[in-house]
Amino acid sequence: MNRKRILTGDRPTGRLHLGHFVGSIANRVRLQDSYDCFFIIADLHTLTTRPEKAEIEQIPDNAREMALDYLACGIDPERSVIYLQSAVAEVFELNLFFEMLVTVPRLQRIPSLKDMVQSAHLTEMPFGLLGYPVLQAADILMPRAHLVPVGKDNESHVELAREIARRFNNLYGEVFPVPDVLVGEVPTLVGTDGSAKMSKSLGNAILLSDEQAAVRKKVMSMYTDPKRISADVPGTVEGNPVFAYHDIFNPDKEEVEGLKARYRAGTVGDVEVKEKLAAALNAFLDPIRERRKDFEARGGFVDEVIVEGTLKMREEARLTLAEVRSAMGVAASWNRISRKAEQARKKRESAAKH
Ligand code: ATP
Ligand code: MG
Repeated sequence: MNRKRILTGDRPTGRLHLGHFVGSIANRVRLQDSYDCFFIIADLHTLTTRPEKAEIEQIPDNAREMALDYLACGIDPERSVIYLQSAVAEVFELNLFFEMLVTVPRLQRIPSLKDMVQSAHLTEMPFGLLGYPVLQAADILMPRAHLVPVGKDNESHVELAREIARRFNNLYGEVFPVPDVLVGEVPTLVGTDGSAKMSKSLGNAILLSDEQAAVRKKVMSMYTDPKRISADVPGTVEGNPVFAYHDIFNPDKEEVEGLKARYRAGTVGDVEVKEKLAAALNAFLDPIRERRKDFEARGGFVDEVIVEGTLKMREEARLTLAEVRSAMGVAASWNRISRKAEQARKKRESAAKH
């Protein structure tokens, strides 16, 4: 039975947060039954903004923490492949072929790359960072994925992967499916500080592995309606991150509607609204934390999962690259030259004998 495939993943820059969950991981867990899934630990992508040796040394720890988060969220290593990008050498080669199919101005129009330059405090765009979405296209198309569940900020990257797949197929023949993007139910989760995106680098994230007390502390200091200096001032619910989180993570809709009505009327304090949010978030995170502890207790199990997944991915990559080289005819160049060299050698040897 040939099922359709998913590829998606994350950069191993640390533990995962609620934004990763709602943007992409929830879809991954949900779709495991109907797709063959490949989840990439994209360590080469971390090099685009952090090429320093000290950063590279942190990758193994970050990779296993991230894989533990995957398992804790319900990604099943029996069914899904979790692999380390840098250990599959074929991606370097596919990346180079794809670089020939895209223009510099096309890449310069991708908005997320400018944001990444800024948040990494770089003054100019590194060549490799400009190529970030090209490498991502190589990741997506390596297992010939049909669907890519990502957060909103990654939508334009998948669009580029679609263009590259089409261009490759036009030039060389049908090798790749044109992958669809699937943005999460919450396309971009706001940060606890009210800024547009929850992100670890911005220090506004609630981690999936945060302990109960840490979650409570982060929630109690969350950004909320700044005009509300006391509990009897009517507050604004729309665009208020505390209520955005209630809407997403609190399953008790009646409680949420009640809090909203009292907030608008100025008859509830921020403390109560936040206490109830902290309780809802902790109830949501409890089973994730529990599964994480179970997997942690199994010692090197998570490392075995990554190794097994990487070996599977290597096999997939080998097959895809063989097809790519043959479709492009790059293998034929070498074969033709080798054949001629062989003929020349034989001719020389037989001439020497006579
Ligand atoms: P961070 O800055 O916190 O490390 P990131 O943007 O670097 O996050 P990536 O590894 O680039 O994370 O992205 C992993 C996946 O998670 C992508 O699909 C991305 O769209 C998604 N994602 C990350 N943050 C959020 C968020 N706040 N809301 C929704 N989706 C998100
Ligand atoms: Mg990240």
